Amino acid sequence: MKQCTVIGAGTMGNGIAHVFASNGYDVALYDLHQSSLDKGLASIEKNLNRQVSKDLLTASEAEAAHQRIHCHLNLSEAVKGSDIVIEAATENEALKLSIFKELDALCDPETILATNTSSIAIGKIAAATQRAEKVIGMHFMNPVPVMKLVEIIRGYKTSDATTDAVVALAKSLGKSPVECNDYPGFVANRILMPMINEAIEALQTGVAGVSEIDSIMKMGMAHPMGPLQLADFIGLDVCLSILQVLHSGLGQPKYAPNSLLVSMVTAGDLGVKSGRGFYDYANGVKQPVVAPSFV
Ligand code: NAD
Repeated sequence: MKQCTVIGAGTMGNGIAHVFASNGYDVALYDLHQSSLDKGLASIEKNLNRQVSKDLLTASEAEAAHQRIHCHLNLSEAVKGSDIVIEAATENEALKLSIFKELDALCDPETILATNTSSIAIGKIAAATQRAEKVIGMHFMNPVPVMKLVEIIRGYKTSDATTDAVVALAKSLGKSPVECNDYPGFVANRILMPMINEAIEALQTGVAGVSEIDSIMKMGMAHPMGPLQLADFIGLDVCLSILQVLHSGLGQPKYAPNSLLVSMVTAGDLGVKSGRGFYDYANGVKQPVVAPSFV
């Protein structure tokens, strides 16, 4: 494989484009709005520069990676000649089904269609296409340039050839692919999201404040960050969407999204990407928030 298309230039899409480009692949990065592409490209530049300052890349390697990324607002142009498309658009089932239907019509018959979905059934996404054997979950972790794991999810009809090709591709990016089957939330989010939801419940019921919950979980469990900080980092809208899929897909009340999470997403407090979630990120200083009336 030489050429890939990334759909969506948000938190994950720009990270995926970064990793492919810095490993020698030509990348077409597609989004609906020029502003999203500009923001995505600015993140890529910042993260490439950070890798240069840490001696993980030379300045000329970073420049070459940057040159390999081409931004598009036209989907048929973006997928032309691509060996694989990795979809990293907003976590919304109807949206993903329509994207995959369109991709199936526009892409070469040989092109593999992968999704970075956190929770939506691969089989459902595959059924929107005429090439279910070439549809697979390629679930990168955030931040993509740093995290080694790629959860590889086989749908009911995903072929061995597709799985083998995507496992080899992940390895070529310096990642560690691990395979699992197509159940709501797969493995990572089925286990992570109930923990985040429980942390929000603990906050809401006054067990402890934001900093205290995060400090206890960080130090006590040797996690690199606490669950509320992690939720801000993932995006509270993304967390809510995943919990909704777990709740409807697994049918157990324990997966019901906490009402404080719902209120925060409704109010537009989405975490790092909106500048405010459980913490306020204004002026580069991280301050714990959450309206006292909720706690
Ligand atoms: P995000 O909100 O940061 O970015 C989503 C991007 O998709 C936006 O730029 C938006 O403009 C674009 N978009 C929306 N509709 C589109 C369309 N029809 N065509 C092209 N682009 C479109 O979201 P994110 O956090 O990057 O999540 C993207 C995907 O990755 C989701 O499926 C999410 O579940 C998954 N994921 C997220 C994380 C995380 O930590 N945030 C981790 C792993 C996987």
